[in-house]
Amino acid sequence: MKEELMRLKDKTIEVLSNSKNIDQLNDLKVKVLGKKGELTHILRGMSRLVPEERPILGKMANEVKESLEQKFSEKAQVLKEALKERKMAEEYIDVTIPSMVNLGNKHPLTLVLDEIRDIFTGLGYQVMEGPEIELDYYNFEALNTPKDHPARDVQDTFYITEEILLRTQTSPVQVRTMERQQPPLKIIAPGRVFRSDAVDATHSPMFHQVEGLAIGEGFTMGDLKGTLVAFIKEMFGDDRKSRFRPHFFPFTEPSAEVDISCIACHGEGCRICSYTGWLEILGCGMVHPNVLKNVGHDPEKINGFAFGMGVERIAMLKYGINDLRLFYENDLRFLRQF
Ligand SMILES: [Zn+2]
Repeated sequence: MKEELMRLKDKTIEVLSNSKNIDQLNDLKVKVLGKKGELTHILRGMSRLVPEERPILGKMANEVKESLEQKFSEKAQVLKEALKERKMAEEYIDVTIPSMVNLGNKHPLTLVLDEIRDIFTGLGYQVMEGPEIELDYYNFEALNTPKDHPARDVQDTFYITEEILLRTQTSPVQVRTMERQQPPLKIIAPGRVFRSDAVDATHSPMFHQVEGLAIGEGFTMGDLKGTLVAFIKEMFGDDRKSRFRPHFFPFTEPSAEVDISCIACHGEGCRICSYTGWLEILGCGMVHPNVLKNVGHDPEKINGFAFGMGVERIAMLKYGINDLRLFYENDLRFLRQF
């Protein structure tokens, strides 16, 4: 029996020292020291021994058991350490490797919107917002465009119900603001607008506008012109020429469209400007007396001017982009150029 115990001890130590992981080690421990393990099996043979030998064998068995338990726990410690080392090695991050992360940049429309906002807030304008789902009243009627007005035909409108629509312009924000705030006030209202246009290089069912409004006492067309010329020079450079052409809008009177000298040919005439030397960039005019009356102002005392521009149009001219669809396709090769 002594020999059996010794053999078990030696054999176990040998197998144990070759264990590759904790699971193997635990299996071995159960197999040798467990309740139904090999040590127990040997000890069952004690009954065959003479009584004097039993305590000696018992003591020896205990020593073997203790010694093996010691070995198991030492080996377990070694394996745990090794596992930790391996994990650390696998998860090692070399902080000295140059970064491969590309930082994002602003979308060209955001850049242009930011610039428009900066220019007008610099001139004392407040930035206002309004709902994209709008009442027919604010989008048309309050802006001097009743239901039978021919100007409604020009704008293909997405109607939700007869009275609710997706706004076709940011102009309703001027009415909403005038209802809430007393003059003098100067606001711009940037935002998305919607028209049921088919998509092509110059049309999209969703695009961005910035509406501007200034009302108070004694405004003239000269104030309007001065403001927009200052804006154009900030946006397109000091040497950019501009001109005002008479036009019609239902909510302004008189009304004008504003052109800038062609960004490609500087007025010489080229394909981009259809050989006119000019490019249209915005619409404007003196706020129509009916619009002022609709919000409770006396047009004899209070007047002002309004203007509206397409953000995509400005961005296309500023960056020389010839297809509106590029703004919405999110092609990184395009977006990274700004
Ligand atoms: Zn040109």
